[in-house]
Amino acid sequence: MKQRITVLGSTGSIGKNTLDVVSRHPERYEVFALSAATQVDLMLEQCAQFRPQFAVMASGPHAQLLAEKIQQNGLPTSVLQAQDALEIIASHESVDAVMAAIVGAAGLAPCLAAARAEKRLLLANKEALVVGGGLFMQAVRDGGATLLPIDSEHSAIFQCLPEDPACWAERVDHILLTASGGPFRTRAPETLAQITPQQACAHPNFSMGRKISVDSATMMNKALEVIEARWLFGLAPEQIKVVIHPQQIIHSMVQFNDASILAQLGTPDMRVPIACGLAWPERIESGASRLDFAALTALTFEQADDHRFPGLHLSWQALNAPEGTTAVLNAANEVAVEAFLAERLRFDHIHAVNLATLEAVPPSKPDSLESLLGLDAQARDAARRIAASMAL
Ligand code: NDP
Repeated sequence: MKQRITVLGSTGSIGKNTLDVVSRHPERYEVFALSAATQVDLMLEQCAQFRPQFAVMASGPHAQLLAEKIQQNGLPTSVLQAQDALEIIASHESVDAVMAAIVGAAGLAPCLAAARAEKRLLLANKEALVVGGGLFMQAVRDGGATLLPIDSEHSAIFQCLPEDPACWAERVDHILLTASGGPFRTRAPETLAQITPQQACAHPNFSMGRKISVDSATMMNKALEVIEARWLFGLAPEQIKVVIHPQQIIHSMVQFNDASILAQLGTPDMRVPIACGLAWPERIESGASRLDFAALTALTFEQADDHRFPGLHLSWQALNAPEGTTAVLNAANEVAVEAFLAERLRFDHIHAVNLATLEAVPPSKPDSLESLLGLDAQARDAARRIAASMAL
């Protein structure tokens, strides 16, 4: 029996890589639904290739345009326009697995819907877990969902840990998330103010969406991953460490209580963790090239420099603060990155906006999706005011 898959964010970098892996295994997978925000023509191409039952666009005008094009092309796909269309395709009874690859907190509601509906939830959308935290994990437990990490670092940790989560607390000393250090790993901290969006989006090893590319350049991506790891693996904040490893061959490591370390290695290609999540515990062809050890020159490691990457430590601070603080941090960062990409904010002011927003918004422990979204909105308002006061 084929697995039916919903891909949320199918026109993005992770979405396209997911469809690439899926297309290699037509005997195992079929696409049930796709979602995107603005790229109507690419969505049309994907509908023509994968013939999903449903497609969803984030806005009415984009959905309308897609519906017209789908009709002109005689495709069988229905364009769903309900307000909760993403939740519908994430929790539909015909769906087996959901790839959560929307960028930002916008992905939280469909992730929660998939979690509550007992789906195999492939989580790339780290912001959903950073915002949702305990509420998200409770939904996974209550719904009986299978949560599989797609972020390459968390997939690596997942592959190194014992299969039974009940053993983790007793056996694991700490985990080591590796980081590439991004395009500014060796850049002089006093020159960060001049960085342009184009420079920030030029990641040395990966082609990724613009938001995560900027997060990699500030290392806020790693900060979000520390928070993600805390929730995924139930670790204390001080059990999560970060080390820069520019070659991105070791995707992360687990240090056990006896001082033994297990690492997961491979070429840096997101199709590997995607294939792993899709097929787990089986293994399928991902399309990634094999690691050639003879061609490797060196694997190097270094500590992240606090002056160059001041945002990294906000993750531990936020995790040690009242729950809800990570949602405030995420909202501030989304607003600041958007302002930077629109050339309204200096690169080094992204951290300043994050810090000032954390000081301005008192966190409150969210007990429902509504209270989380309320806190998120409050933090975005504060971050917008702060970013405007620093505008270029
Ligand atoms: P992209 O920007 O490439 O793609 C984002 C996708 O989400 C697109 O399909 C986009 O639609 C859609 N989208 C954007 N905004 C909204 C919205 N408000 N509502 C609904 N859909 C929306 O991002 P990536 O693929 O790079 O990243 C996706 C997620 O995966 C992020 O959370 C990121 O942190 C995570 N991740 C990414 C990795 C990577 O290598 N790229 C690695 C590990 C994790 P459209 O394009 O049509 O506008």
